[in-house]
Amino acid sequence: SAVQSALRARRRQYQLRDQIGEQMKAEQALRDSERRKDEFLATLAHELRNPLAPIRMGVDALARIPGDSAQALRLREMMARQVGQLVKLIDELLDLSRIATGKVVLRRVSVDLRTVIASALEACQPALEAARHEVRVELPPQPVWVHGDPSRLAQVVSNLVNNAAKYTPAGGHVRIELAQVQREATLRVVDDGMGIPAEMVGRVFDMFTQVDRTLDRAQGGLGIGLALVRSLMELHGGSVRADSDGLDRGSVFTLTLPAIAAEAAADCGPGAPE
Ligand code: ADP
Repeated sequence: SAVQSALRARRRQYQLRDQIGEQMKAEQALRDSERRKDEFLATLAHELRNPLAPIRMGVDALARIPGDSAQALRLREMMARQVGQLVKLIDELLDLSRIATGKVVLRRVSVDLRTVIASALEACQPALEAARHEVRVELPPQPVWVHGDPSRLAQVVSNLVNNAAKYTPAGGHVRIELAQVQREATLRVVDDGMGIPAEMVGRVFDMFTQVDRTLDRAQGGLGIGLALVRSLMELHGGSVRADSDGLDRGSVFTLTLPAIAAEAAADCGPGAPE
């Protein structure tokens, strides 16, 4: 009858309302736990970083005390290197949690990507040389202007180049290519190293994701670098992608950024903050 079907409709309405309520509660819980994770990461990074500053100073001070044995010298060098590694890791963690909580502010200016590549290469020189890689850089003869934070962009590029150095067996080839097609700048970092298995290619940008997770793997790290690269590219309105034909077939990491016209770059002056 009409009454029964009206009752059924009402009951259905209540059920739907309950369902939606449950779903909203679940989403809120998820947001809360995401926020707690971000807060935990930020606190952890801060707490880890604090004792490192005096340790670093101690190691530096030790280096100035004369008349030490060769063995003490080697130990000091080792300690300085390891502390440097720790500082780098923790800084990456801090960076990532700052991005997650919206606390990273880009200092965007007009910048020529060729100069970004030059400063990234400078930072990567030790890693590239230690592995005796052959490096080729292919730059266009004219500037490629983008609107970005020069030091953050250099950080992105050096992360990719350091990875290329790290995941390519000694004596490999690393190529950096820059091109601009109309309003898009493309920067590629190509290596002929370990490559990435097909099922991992889409996931290497996720936080803490590593192809080889075994603890005795040759290459250290936490799997933060590429997550940072992706976040920084998104903040710049750009993107990053990985391609590989599989294990031992090398990798290609491609950055894209909106390019700005030379006249627009000149307007705000090269390197002039807006
Ligand atoms: P990490 O290097 O500290 O592990 P990243 O976030 O930089 O962290 O990289 C994540 C993972 O992606 C690496 O552990 C590695 O498995 C893979 N990877 C990154 N770059 C390359 C590359 N050029 N060739 C092969 N694998 C790579």
